[in-house]
Amino acid sequence: MPFTKGFYINGAWQLEKMPRTHVPLIDPATEAVLHQVPMATKAEVSAAIEAAHQAFHCYSQSPVQERIELVERILAIYEEYQDELALAISTEMGAPITLAQKAQAPLGLNQIKSALEAAKSFAFEEANNGYTLRYEAAGVAALITPWNWPMNQAMCKIAPALLAGCSLVFKPSELAPLSAMLLTEIIAKAEPPKGVFNMVFGQGETVGPQLSSDPRIDLVSLTGSNRAGVSVLHEAANHIKRVSLELGGKSANILLPDCDIEQAVQSSIRAVMNNSGQSCNAPTRLLVPKQHLQKVETLAREACEALTVGSPTNPATRLGPIANQRQYERVKYYIELGIEEGAKLITGGTERPAHLSRGYYLQPTVFSQVHNQMRIAQEEIFGPVLCIIPYDSVEQAITLANDTIYGLSAYVYGSNLEATKDVAKRLRAGNVHINNARAQLEAPFGGYKQSGIGREWGKYGLLEFLELKSIFQ
Ligand code: NAD
Repeated sequence: MPFTKGFYINGAWQLEKMPRTHVPLIDPATEAVLHQVPMATKAEVSAAIEAAHQAFHCYSQSPVQERIELVERILAIYEEYQDELALAISTEMGAPITLAQKAQAPLGLNQIKSALEAAKSFAFEEANNGYTLRYEAAGVAALITPWNWPMNQAMCKIAPALLAGCSLVFKPSELAPLSAMLLTEIIAKAEPPKGVFNMVFGQGETVGPQLSSDPRIDLVSLTGSNRAGVSVLHEAANHIKRVSLELGGKSANILLPDCDIEQAVQSSIRAVMNNSGQSCNAPTRLLVPKQHLQKVETLAREACEALTVGSPTNPATRLGPIANQRQYERVKYYIELGIEEGAKLITGGTERPAHLSRGYYLQPTVFSQVHNQMRIAQEEIFGPVLCIIPYDSVEQAITLANDTIYGLSAYVYGSNLEATKDVAKRLRAGNVHINNARAQLEAPFGGYKQSGIGREWGKYGLLEFLELKSIFQ
C-alpha cells in the first residue's frame, strides 16, 4: 500500500494514529477504487508548516552551490524513477501510457533541468555603483498543484523554490496522489536538510485555506482552477502574502485565411485532444474564416474519428478516460449545454465510444457554428471538446480571440510569417504559438487577465521565489 507511509514532515514519514478523512483514488479507466488516500489533519498540516518555518533561516542562508547540488541529486534520482512515475500518472489520472512515458514524466525532469540551468547562470548578487543588489529567498512557500500534468506542475515549483533557498510545504492534488508519493520518495532520497521539504495530502477546500492564511507561510504558489485562485487571494490578503497563480484558459486558435488549412486543422485537433483536453493551454476555440468553415468541419471530424480512444495501458491509445468523476460530469454537462445553446455538433457527444462500457471515457467532441458569447465558448470545459467559431475578417478574429476573461495561450496559423506575427502581437495572452511552434521551458509561462498572476519556468520561475534587497555601501 503506497499510502501507509503517510506524509513527509520534518525529514520523516509521519502518519499519526487519529481519526481522519480518506479520499478514494478511483481508476478512471475502470471506476474501481484503487486506494484510500489519507488526508492530513489540521495538526499535521500545521506541523508541516512549522517544520518549513524552522528550517527557513538556515536553508535560506546556505550557499547556492549546496542548493544546486541538492537539486542535482533530485534530478539523478528522478531519472531512475521515470518509468514508475509514468505508470503512476497513467494509473491515477488516465493519461495514455505512451503520453505518460513520452511527455508527462519527462516534463517533470525537464523542469528540473531548466531550473538548474537558470540557477547556475543567475547572479544572486550584483555589485553596483554604491550598492549591492541581492536576490534572496522569498520565504516559506506553500506549493499547491493540480492533477492534469502532475509532475510538470510540481517540479516547475519545487525545483526553483529549493534553488532560491525557500523551505516549503507541497500539497499535491488529492486526485493524483500516486505520482506525488513517488516524487516525495525521490526528494527524500536526495536528503534535503530537515524541514526544508514537506508534503501533505489534503482536500483543497480545507488544507488550501489553512496554508494560504497561516502567518508562517510567506508565499503561496497555486496551479489550479480560478475558484481556488480566488480563495488563495482572499486567504492570503490578511498577511499581504506573495501569491503566484497559474489558472484556467480558453485559448483562441486563429486560422488566418492564407494558412495551410489541412495541416493547421490536423495539428489543432491533436493539440486540443492531447491529454483528453485536460490542459490549461489547450487551443479550445478554433477561429475559422467563414469561407473555409465547411472544409474545416469535415477535416476536424475526420481527425477526431482517427484518434484511438481506449485503455490508458494500450500503447496505441491517443485519448484515455477523463481523469476523475467530477471532471467527467463537468465535461458531459458542457456538451449538453452546447447542444442546448444551439451549437452544431459535428462529432462526439456525451456517450462513451461504443466499444467501452465502463470508465470515464468520452469521444472527442467538436461543435461548430459556435457564437463567442455562448457559455461553451466562454467557460473552461477542460475536456476533449473543441468550439469552432466562424469569422468574417482578421480584425474580427482578433476581437473574438481577446473577448474572454482568460489570457493564458493563443495560437495563430498563417503562411506570411510577418503578418502572422503582427496578429500574435495583438493577442492578450502570455504565450502565442505560431504554426504549431513548441513552447520552450526557458521562456516564461503564465497568463494575462484571469489566467493568473506571475510567470513560471526557467529564470522566471526562479524569480517567483526571490526577494530583492539593495545594500547601500
Ligand atoms: P482545483 O483548483 O480543483 O485544484 C488544484 C489544486 O488546488 C488541488 O491541489 C486542490 O486541492 C487545491 N485547491 C482546491 N481548492 C483550493 C482552495 N480553496 N485553496 C487552495 N487550494 C485549493 O483544480 P483541478 O481541478 O485540480 O485542476 C484543473 C484546473 O487547473 C483547471 O482550471 C486548469 O485550467 C487549471 N490549470 C492551470 C494551469 C496553468 O498553468 N495555468 C495548469 C494546469 C491546470
